[in-house]
Parts: sequence; structure tokens; C-alpha cells
Amino acid sequence: MLFDKFQTMADFQAELAGRGVVPFGAVTEQILSATEGVVEGRKVILAGTNNYMGLSFDPRCIAASQAAAAKWGTGTTGSRLANGSFAEHQALEQEIAGFYGVGHAIVFSTGYAATMGMCSTLAGAGDVILLDADSHASIYAGVKLSEAEVIRYKHNDPDDLAKRMRRLGDRASQALIIAEGIYSMLGDVAPLKEIAAVKREYGGYLLVDEAHSMGVLGDTGRGAAQAAGVEADVDFTVGTFSKSLGSIGGYCVSRHAELEAIRFCIKAYIFTASSSPSIIASTREALRIIVSEPERRQRVWDNANRLYQGLKALGLPVGPTASPVVAVEMVDRSRTIDCWKALMEAGVYVNLVIPPASPSTNFLLRNSVSAAHSSEQIDTIINAYAGLKAAGLFEPAQAA
Ligand code: PMP
Repeated sequence: MLFDKFQTMADFQAELAGRGVVPFGAVTEQILSATEGVVEGRKVILAGTNNYMGLSFDPRCIAASQAAAAKWGTGTTGSRLANGSFAEHQALEQEIAGFYGVGHAIVFSTGYAATMGMCSTLAGAGDVILLDADSHASIYAGVKLSEAEVIRYKHNDPDDLAKRMRRLGDRASQALIIAEGIYSMLGDVAPLKEIAAVKREYGGYLLVDEAHSMGVLGDTGRGAAQAAGVEADVDFTVGTFSKSLGSIGGYCVSRHAELEAIRFCIKAYIFTASSSPSIIASTREALRIIVSEPERRQRVWDNANRLYQGLKALGLPVGPTASPVVAVEMVDRSRTIDCWKALMEAGVYVNLVIPPASPSTNFLLRNSVSAAHSSEQIDTIINAYAGLKAAGLFEPAQAA
């Protein structure tokens, strides 16, 4: 029957409801600040957003957004190709291209549309795409639509990428290599220096999704490629406005002038309405702020290190290095749900991640920190985990 494939999810939903937990789609009833809200009736610290620069509640972004709504109205009612390209969209494109120091940029309505649109359009029938096995769903969706031959290389493994490029022979010089900056679930960073070296050796084109690393990594916040010193090797950078820039939307920037022709071949750009001017205006303001307030980057890293060290000191199974995404990996689903519920009761909202959103068969308590978190809030999060540990929720199944 058509609905059979949804039974597992329906059973899981019933189990969660029976246990009185709402980890997916928990309703935020009130936002108190960039780091606090009322979720499912509880005042909580928001430790599972991607609000890395803490700008979602910045008064300057809010004011820019309000002014744009008053000036331009609430929506564009059309796609960028038709009536939906306002001066605001064009200005943001120039500013985001300027931020990256390249000549060309496309602004999309979501980050998902940007990644999916670029990955589905750049390579077509007869081309080859090599993507990291742990790529985001939007990348997988894009490459599937592309009709190109799709080859997965082992997660963050440039040697495996090189081996697969070598096997391609002459075709390697036309291949599209895809990597991310910071991986969203475990917070690990792609070895872009080594990946760029593979591209230099075998040829091809490199697309990097900097969704979680824009604002966070690099001297001026351009992301992991800037931090690795390999921006010149990157052909296409995609990213999102929904994390460090605190709004919604996506972008692709490139030094290749061909991007202007590619723009009108991307279905996720042509056949969807453009962002409302108020969103674009707050995004422009947020971009100005991350450029003029680099101390936010320092603060997010201070918070990341504090949380990472705190959870590590508790003996919890966190990743190998600190990052603004700190995930506690769990093997037992039921125990993970208990932990999520106990964290909520302790006033801390984190993300509960289940396969296939988590990169392995493990479950994750995914924490993400913001420049706007205070040290006290980070300590409250650590103390909440300490309470779970004292209650035995990480034992015996969850030894580090
Ligand atoms: N790429 C990556 C790596 C992501 O993690 C996400 C969102 N989680 C996206 C793209 C899509 O971005 P958005 O949510 O802004 O549409």
C-alpha cells in the first residue's frame, strides 16, 4: 500500500507521544532573545539553533526588515526570473559577491534551494559528480536530479577522493567535486587543503557548501576554504542566510562569469518565488554586522570551546575537536529520547537527531552554540548534562 513505507515513522511518533516528548517540530511559543525561548511550555536556553553569530534578534536587523516591509511590501509574488527581482535582491547579490571577493553571486529563496539547485544544474548527463558520503540532504537531492554519474568518496577522506579521481582517467578534469565546510551534524571540518590539492592534481571543479562555516571560520568569516587558504581552488561556494545571518535564503558565489548563464538554468531559482524584501534587508544588515563585528567570531569559538571541554570533562562521547556544533553521540534510541526530555526539563533545548539525518547508525544530542550565549548559559548547559550523567542516563550503554 502507498502508505506502508510511513509506518515506521508513524510507530515512532506514537512512541514519542506515549512518552510525552516532542523532539521533532517542538513548538516555540515565545522567543525571548537569540538564546532563550519558551518551547512546549518551558522557558529554555536555545542550544540547538544554528544562530552562530546570534543575529536573529538583533535590533538593527529587525529595523532593516521592518523598513523594507514598509517600503516594498510583504512579498514579491514572483520568481527572480520574472517580477521577483527587486533592487534589494540585486544589492544583496553584489554585497555577498563583494564579501567573497568574487564577481558573481546568485541569491536563492532558501539554502536548500541554493545547494540543491547548483548541484542539480552544474553537472548533467555524461558528467561525473564526486561527493562526500556524509553530504547534506540538499546535496544528495541535487545530484540525484542532475542525471550525472554520482560517486561517493569516504567522509573527509582526500585519499579516497584521489583514488576515485584517478580511476576516472580523462573524465576527472571535468568532474564536479562537492564538499562541505563544517559538517552540520558532528561539527567536523572538511580537509579542504587536501581536497583542493586533489583537484589541482587531477583537475575538475570544486563546490563547497559553507552553510555552517560562513561567519564562523576564516579570517573574515568566509568559511572553511578561507581558513584553509584554498579559496582560489574553489569554483563555487554555496551557503545559507539561515544560520550565521539569522534570516532565511541561500547563495552561490563564483569567480566564473558563466554563473550568470547558469542562473537561468536552475529550476530551484526560476520556478519559485523570490525572498520577501524584508528578509533580504535583514540579511544585508546581518552581513554588514558580521564584517564590522569580527569579535562575534571569537565569542562563538570561546563558547564552542567552553561547551566542548565541559562535555568532554564529563566523559561524554563528543567529537575529536571543538566546533560550534558539539554533538553527543548515543547508541541507544530510547536512552537518547530520555536524555532529550531530561534536558528540556532542565531548561535546555537541543536537537535530537536520528538516522538518516545523523551520519551513522548513532543518535545524536546535537548542541550548537551562538556568539550570543553567555558563559553562564554555556555552564547551565554543561550542568544540565552533568545532571543527566548523575542520574545514570549515559550509563551503561553510553560509555565514551
Ligand atoms: N546545506 C547544509 C550543509 C545544511 O546543513 C543546510 C541546512 N541545515 C542547508 C544546506 C540548507 O539550508 P537552509 O536550511 O537554509 O535551507
